[in-house]
Amino acid sequence: MSQRQRMGGQPMIIMGEDSQRVKDEDAQDYNISAARAVAESVRSTLGPKGMDKMLVDSMGDVTITNDGVTILEEMDIDNPTAEMIIEVAETQEEEAGDGTTTAVAIAGELLKNAEELLDQEIHPTAVIKGFHLASEQARHEVEEISRHVEPSDTDLLENVAETSMTGKGAELDKEHLAELIVEAVRAVTVEADDGSHVVDLANLKIETQKGRAVTESDLLNGAVVSKDPVHDNMPTEVEGETLLLNEAIEVEETDVDTNVSIDSPDQLQSFLDQEEKQLREKVDIIAESGADVVFCQKGIDDLAQHYLAKEGVLALRRVKSSDISFLKNVLGGSVVSDLKSLTEEDLGFGSVGRDEADELFYVEGEDAHGVTLLLRGSTDHVVDELERGISDALDVVSTTISDGRVVAGGGAIEVELASRLREFADSVSGREQLAVEAFADSLELVPRVLAENAGLDAIDTLVDLRSAHESGHQMAGLDVFSGDVEDTFEAGVVEPAHSKEQALSSATEAANLVLKIDDIIAAGDLSTSGGEEEGGAPGGGMGGMGGMGGAM
Ligand code: ADP
Ligand code: MG
Repeated sequence: MSQRQRMGGQPMIIMGEDSQRVKDEDAQDYNISAARAVAESVRSTLGPKGMDKMLVDSMGDVTITNDGVTILEEMDIDNPTAEMIIEVAETQEEEAGDGTTTAVAIAGELLKNAEELLDQEIHPTAVIKGFHLASEQARHEVEEISRHVEPSDTDLLENVAETSMTGKGAELDKEHLAELIVEAVRAVTVEADDGSHVVDLANLKIETQKGRAVTESDLLNGAVVSKDPVHDNMPTEVEGETLLLNEAIEVEETDVDTNVSIDSPDQLQSFLDQEEKQLREKVDIIAESGADVVFCQKGIDDLAQHYLAKEGVLALRRVKSSDISFLKNVLGGSVVSDLKSLTEEDLGFGSVGRDEADELFYVEGEDAHGVTLLLRGSTDHVVDELERGISDALDVVSTTISDGRVVAGGGAIEVELASRLREFADSVSGREQLAVEAFADSLELVPRVLAENAGLDAIDTLVDLRSAHESGHQMAGLDVFSGDVEDTFEAGVVEPAHSKEQALSSATEAANLVLKIDDIIAAGDLSTSGGEEEGGAPGGGMGGMGGMGGAM
């Protein structure tokens, strides 16, 4: 009995009758199979020619997507090892906004190649060490290979946006959208004292509107508020002082339980007068402050609306709180929650104009911090799809601007890294060298799968790519549309270096985490699904992965 199973002569782990234990090679086989199955499930979506998946949930709702992280999250996997791989996708999404399929596919390939090394009796710790060394070296090489990009490099940034949208719903109008995205991100970028660029996406709002063509999407300097004026006699084009109000312009109910008993018409009249007076006072405070426009987060009483209209004030009510806080960025001033404390400093300044056809107001500030990307599309479905694609591209462009480095896509960066890692392997001694080589091989999965998904011969493509890189073409990648090996950077297939680095490190971490496990102790049965035979997995099952059947 091994050390860890005993403590003071007593068995340390007492397992229930239903529990199951898998050790050493069996544990590794089991885990590697589970992780690889997850990676393989998203591979076919990689690249512009990747296929979509239709996901049907238990309620029968359908999602059609190409997005790695969405697929994995919807698959309802409860296998613990598989979940580690899903975390790779989630980390990648959070840190880079793109590259999730790549990260997961590389993790799966690392494990596949690790399995071969383990079969050759190479100890897992040597594989783990080699993978770690290779990953560090690869990140260092990315730094070497990458090109610098400035916020003013419009064409390059537009290429980055287009590459991230390729193969997604936003693709059809990607040139126009890429222009808007780059302009938008640039509008919310400031240069820090140390010369670095800081992107503040809080100053950028996405608004969607259905009913017009995607090409009519627009970038507005300021905000958009989809509200009607509260009263017909209010102005609809105003330039002047603005008030953001988080208080109802209604009669205050001083005490919830007070019953007012009215015995005579006189009393009724004085009660109504009282209410009128209260509303009049609120409107007077607003008018005297000099406010020309009121954006009210709460309600506005009919009578108050009438008074405001008479004062020539434009008022909108029940404006969303997210709109109010964005309007604060655009117009300045502060959000007032008690009219009695209103001072001139609380007011902002800007112009507000009505678009009758779209039933919304355009709001512009003096020196507006705040731009709105108004996305249009013919139907809700189109607009939703567009919003998903756009928000990824926004993340990718902002990462690129703040990080300042880009690399060539279409497998170019991966093939270059693989070739450099093979050279690096020569300097690594012992069995770790084999692991570094296996790591290099794993990276070439990216161009192989890009080719496969485009219906091209993966082996031929890889041979061509390798020889191009050997003769010094660092940016040689696969153009999936022509099937040719070309300078993908020149062709406009450009990706942020940061996203590649992140994919390398999270894939390596996940693979190493799986490889470190040599003992699985499960409270229940590990093979509940009784699905198809998976590698050498004990019992042939991958607990809980039966739910994937519908998704693949
Ligand atoms: P991910 O979730 O990893 O971002 P994608 O399905 O978006 O997966 O595919 C990204 C891969 O597709 C990257 O390797 C990228 O370089 C490649 N790619 C994008 N556009 C092109 C293109 N026009 N030609 C070749 N490869 C492309
Ligand atoms: Mg992508």
